[in-house]
Amino acid sequence: MAPPLTPATLLSVLRAEGLTVVEVGNWRTHNRNHKGPWGPVHGVMIHHTVTRGSAATVDLCRRGHSTLPGPLCHGVITKDGRVHLVGYGRANHAGMGDDDVLQAVIAERALPPDNEANTDGNRHFYGFECENLGDGEDPWPEAQLRAIEKVSAAICRHHGWGPGSIIGHLEWQPGKVDPRGFSMQTMRGRIAARLDSNQPPEQEDPMAGMSNADICKAVWTTDGVVGVPDGWGAPGNTEWKPASILIDMGKRLRTVEAQQAAQAATIDKLVDAVAAGPAADLDALKAEIRAAIESVVIRIDADSV
Ligand SMILES: [Zn+2]
Repeated sequence: MAPPLTPATLLSVLRAEGLTVVEVGNWRTHNRNHKGPWGPVHGVMIHHTVTRGSAATVDLCRRGHSTLPGPLCHGVITKDGRVHLVGYGRANHAGMGDDDVLQAVIAERALPPDNEANTDGNRHFYGFECENLGDGEDPWPEAQLRAIEKVSAAICRHHGWGPGSIIGHLEWQPGKVDPRGFSMQTMRGRIAARLDSNQPPEQEDPMAGMSNADICKAVWTTDGVVGVPDGWGAPGNTEWKPASILIDMGKRLRTVEAQQAAQAATIDKLVDAVAAGPAADLDALKAEIRAAIESVVIRIDADSV
């Protein structure tokens, strides 16, 4: 028995376990607390979504549908292994289940068959929905299974629980089949090994596997990551990239250089003309100045290529 951890703590323990966590909308305050109690918590429940497509899956779990309002869980684990936090507090995921199962989870002993639906699971379980069609054929990528393992271990570490606190929906409520496609017994074994290894949680390097060229490209030539600064182009231009500012600055600098060289050439010619005494032919002087400007501006353009 434990009070639920705070949203900030949940986020930090998941990240400390090396997970990539996406915060979706107002997840910290999105819940069903007005419909019933939340906590004490006794375990974590794993589900499959019967959906395809990560964005649509996350959206459905956040909003719910006409007969079952969201949030439908706390976090959605997509096939790429990311965890999308969609709600926090009471959520519509576990439904009514078996009190004997709850007692076994609390004691962390072998689970009895779930043959009763007499206990409010939404009050007592963290819920994670996993993107999968649930047909027994849709694959479970290793990245996704590892994320389930990490999410479970992270919450267990925080509460001082063992792998017996992690169950599938199919072990809670009569008639449920999720998650389908891997065994919860095997998953509990993975969680146990992770907890037993007692290693500090991984700190994954987000740049692991990237070459210097990849990093340079990501920083300088990725569209739409940063907004267009005032005065540097059309606001909302989605093709603006950090390198754009360098290119623009280079153009402006060459223009200034050319203007300055033209002024210098003009002044030189005027000084020569003054030194030579009163001008006999002003048109000839203008032509000389124009030629001098052209020669320096052309040289600057050639230098800058
Ligand atoms: Zn379920």
